[in-house]
Amino acid sequence: MNKKRIVIIGGGSAGWITASILAKGLPSAEYDISLIESPDIPTIGVGEATIPPIIHLINYLDLDETDFINKIEGTYKYGIHFENWSTLGHSYMHAFGEIGKNSVDSSFTQMWLAYKSSLNLPPLNHFSPCAVAAYSNKFSRPSLPSDAHPEKYYPLSKLFYAYQFDAGLLAKYLKNIALNLGINYISDNVIKVTTDTNIGIKSVTLTNNAVISADYFVDCSGTRGLLNKQALHCEYEGWDKYLPCDRAVVVQTKSLGDPFPYTKSIAMNAGWRWQIPLQTRTGNGYVYSSKHISDEEALNELSQALTDHEKINEYRVIKFQTGSLKTPWFKNSIALGLSGSFFEPLESTSIHMTHKYALELKNAFIYGTNMTEEATNFNAAFHKDSLSIRDFLIAHYCTTQRDDTSFWRDMQLLSRPQSLQSYLNEFEKTGEITLPQGSLFPYQSWLQILIGQQYLNKEITFTQNRPNQTDEEMKIFFTDIANSIQTEINSLPTHSDFIRNENK
Ligand code: FAD
Repeated sequence: MNKKRIVIIGGGSAGWITASILAKGLPSAEYDISLIESPDIPTIGVGEATIPPIIHLINYLDLDETDFINKIEGTYKYGIHFENWSTLGHSYMHAFGEIGKNSVDSSFTQMWLAYKSSLNLPPLNHFSPCAVAAYSNKFSRPSLPSDAHPEKYYPLSKLFYAYQFDAGLLAKYLKNIALNLGINYISDNVIKVTTDTNIGIKSVTLTNNAVISADYFVDCSGTRGLLNKQALHCEYEGWDKYLPCDRAVVVQTKSLGDPFPYTKSIAMNAGWRWQIPLQTRTGNGYVYSSKHISDEEALNELSQALTDHEKINEYRVIKFQTGSLKTPWFKNSIALGLSGSFFEPLESTSIHMTHKYALELKNAFIYGTNMTEEATNFNAAFHKDSLSIRDFLIAHYCTTQRDDTSFWRDMQLLSRPQSLQSYLNEFEKTGEITLPQGSLFPYQSWLQILIGQQYLNKEITFTQNRPNQTDEEMKIFFTDIANSIQTEINSLPTHSDFIRNENK
């Protein structure tokens, strides 16, 4: 039997994530997989924060988590702390995992909404084990006592986490994995792409004139988009009118202290900046709208914010356009990573989309009987996920109360897709949001953002969600939950001690 040939172009995070997933999942007797990486074109060098489904990737590849974390300068992440997004001086966290404990007939969050004003409840974050752990600078993996009672609340079992890491080291780590799994590695530049109306990509030509053909090509060539964008002219749907930030100025700095287990997102004059703490350094970047400030102004604003920090490298400006290809899988070419889509990094979703859809691709190869149908389903699912991420990102901006700069005033007037507007309408009326099934960000995430943004600044009380209990009983209910979370979190090691102990 002739082996099927798959050629991946690009050796950034997307290329090596895809290579390791395909090499792990496809039988080597049936597939021959190669990866071509330019020795001259650098990877984008950012992409350091993730969300909890990254754990599926680690598990799928059978990686040892401790080894993984150590080799990639990794730290753990319980969520994102937002500062100055709603109003100057205000902050909140979008933490992973569940909030509070549901009662038999009401969800915790609905009860919190129903009583927050009348019982003067603490902010939502006090009821989120991940947020409490993050702000206490503690870390542990989730745990449940062996004699756990099904009706008792165990906050430590609700600790969902993700990773923060050095993007370059991640690619290097996964390269090793993929090479050990038998990937053919070619270090060369693709200088020509030959297309065919029926099949899509016929071959790529390298600097040494070698012509490489394949049954399938995976385009991981970064923002250039060598195959789907450039050679096959697939249409890119830009979301500029919804998400106007189109540049980032980035720099790495030395750590000032022990790394905290979360990412910071701090609103600036014309966008926001991230702070991603790794084991010995911090990743920083200011995502901004070039319609509102120049590169120089952005650089100055970032450098002022980082005056106390020692720089490790030079400031670098990266241009991007938020949006997605309408057909990331077109004929025999599949675009993954920056070549297929760009989600501005506010909620750390790009790497997630790469490994989710690399796994989908692997499944299509294994289980698919009609590849045209597989491509259609792949594109539909990708599109649906992309739109739901897009709406969630816009919700952060359009709900701001800030009017101190032209950027933030414009954000209040931002176009809103119909889908997002209907979520906001429903939320205002009922406190609930009916999200599409399988949404990456569940209701609890939306609630943390909308409450954090002080979107319900009018004192709306959703009394329809009150259970049949006295105020006194409800007060005890909320206090017990907050106390049990704080007590259990206090028993955990600090984030840094956890990392150090694992290293021993
Ligand atoms: P790249 O890293 O650009 O790699 C492209 C590869 O293609 C390189 O190896 C290059 O050599 C190769 N190549 C290009 N042309 C050729 C050629 N002609 N021949 C051969 N090889 C070629 N994502 C997250 O999940 N979390 C974040 O916190 C996050 N932050 C981000 C911040 C910013 C400012 C930006 C811009 C992105 C961020 N992302 C984030 C996205 C993340 O960086 C990318 O999803 C990820 O790094 C994948 O990039 P890539 O591999 O597609 O592209």
